[in-house]
This record gives sequence, C-alpha cells and structure tokens, in this order.
Amino acid sequence: MDREIIVEAPAKVNLTLDILGKRPDGYHELETVMHQITLTDRVHLFSNQHGIILDTNSSDIPRDQNNLAYRAAELAMGKYGRGEGISIFIEKNIPVGAGLAGGSTDAAAVLLGLDHLMDWHLSRESLLEMGAALGSDVPFCMLGMPLQKKADNCFAVAGATALAQGRGEIMSPLPKQIIRHIVLVKPPFQMSTAEVYRAFRLEGVLEHPDTGVFLETWAGGDNSDIARRMVNVLETVSVAQKPEIGQLKQRLVQLGAVQALMSGSGPSVFGIFETEDSAQAAVSALKKDYREVFLVSSY
Ligand code: ATP
Repeated sequence: MDREIIVEAPAKVNLTLDILGKRPDGYHELETVMHQITLTDRVHLFSNQHGIILDTNSSDIPRDQNNLAYRAAELAMGKYGRGEGISIFIEKNIPVGAGLAGGSTDAAAVLLGLDHLMDWHLSRESLLEMGAALGSDVPFCMLGMPLQKKADNCFAVAGATALAQGRGEIMSPLPKQIIRHIVLVKPPFQMSTAEVYRAFRLEGVLEHPDTGVFLETWAGGDNSDIARRMVNVLETVSVAQKPEIGQLKQRLVQLGAVQALMSGSGPSVFGIFETEDSAQAAVSALKKDYREVFLVSSY
C-alpha cells in the first residue's frame, strides 16, 4: 500500500449555463455543460495516526472543517475508515471563489485518493454518493474516475465533460473533445455563488443558450463552432454587479478570442482562441493588467 500519494485536481469551466426556472423546492432548474481544464490543484495525502490534519500553501482557504476537502475526508474516514488518520496538503493553483469549482475538485480528489490509499475499493456509486453529499459540483469532478497513475506516486482522473441538469445532480457524460487554446482570467475579486443565484431573475435574460444545438456542435468538435455557441445566463447578474466582467469579455474578443464567456457564477472569464500564437499574445497583454491569467486546454 502507498503511504503517500498526490492527486491532481482539475478546475472546470461552464461552456453553457442555462436556468429554466425555479423549482417547487426553491432550487433553480439548471442546464449546464461543464468541462475540465488543465489548471489543477495538487492534493497530497499521507496516512498518519492523529486524525485529520489539513494544510495548504494558500492564504485564501480554511484549514479546518470549513474546507470542503477536510469535510470529504471526515465523511469518508467516518464511513469506511478503521481509525487511521490522514494528513492533507493542498497545493492551490486554482483561484478561489472564481466559478472554477476549486473546492469541489479538491473534495473529489480526497475521496478518490483515500479510496486508493486505504485500499477500500469502493464502488463508483458509493463514491459518487459521498460526492453528492458534499456539494453539487463534486460528482462532476469525480466523473473521470478511476484514478490513473501519472508518475511514481501521482494520480489523476481522466478529463470529463458533462451536461448537468436538474439541481445539477443529473449528469450525462459527453464525448471527449479537445479545446486547445483557452485563455482564463480571474479578476481581483470573488463572487458568492449563492448570492448570484439569489439575485438571478429569469425576466432579465435576453439570450438563453440553445443547449440542444450546443450538444450537436460539441459532437462535431470544431473549437470555433463550439466557442460561438457558448452562453451563460448568470452573466446578467454578475456583469450588472461587476461591469469589469463584461469589459474583460470584450477585451478577450478584441485580443482575438472567437468568443469569451464567464464561468459559472463568475468572476472568471475565459476566451477560446484558434491559434497558440494568438492565445499567447493575449496572455502577455492581459498579464500587464491582471495577476491571474492562465493559458490552458482541455484536461
Ligand atoms: P463553484 O464553481 O463550484 O461555484 P467556486 O470556484 O466559485 O466554486 P470555490 O473556489 O470552490 O468556489 O470556493 C468557494 C468557497 O469555498 C470559498 O469561500 C472558500 O473559502 C471555500 N472553500 C472551502 N474549501 C475550499 C477548497 N478546498 N478550495 C477552495 N475553496 C474552498
């Protein structure tokens, strides 16, 4: 049995995000395409004899039960552990509160990593059930299981794309496609997902994504066609609250992106480019004004 492993935890962007209405249970009826990208945290897991200990190189996330990765360990060790302890170290690269599912992917990495480290051999269903109990984006972050070995003690899921519906819990995996040149920018502020959803008004939406057409376009795989079909209805809230998000979208298009979109509830914005050179040039230009600029592709 390995005593220490590292699990790579990829961020996601939403390529479309639609809200169809409010459900009787108060949740929004969602339809969104989520896609994992090569911006990753690295979650280190070591067995210990002293319970759950979490540390990180980031000053932006908690080290206690408020960290979703801690809660993932607590849930899994409580259910399947035999009194062992676990130390978690999160090497944080994914911006926090950014619409990139940073917390969810760390939690997913802990669940999959513990299953491997502790030799539990849990079923896909048991793992997904724990993920769903932790947060609605966690099961998506686990879709690419089982973990594959990347290097000596380093493991990773396969990159996933999925259509999520309902409250986000009904998931249909989509075929593998590679988006080659994505420029991702995180403006210097965070957005609260809960507050953005609270402020959302269906009447305020001028354009909904055509998810059916997007799925056909996705199957074709052409990066520019895919880019042109991207729409996120939450921009109606986030851009009104933070006009900089709208300006950043325009800037990416001026810099050559086929199209730019806000991810999730924001504030991260990404643009899809046709060539490596144009994407590189955009990164250089944006780095003059923003600290968190990333050139990524499909995971
Ligand atoms: P989503 O796209 O799923 O809405 P997000 O990218 O907007 O997520 P996160 O980065 O997951 O948001 O962070 C949201 C909140 O969760 C932050 O306030 C952060 O302090 C808290 N949090 C708890 N654990 C973590 C973690 N491991 N990584 C990041 N944030 C965490």
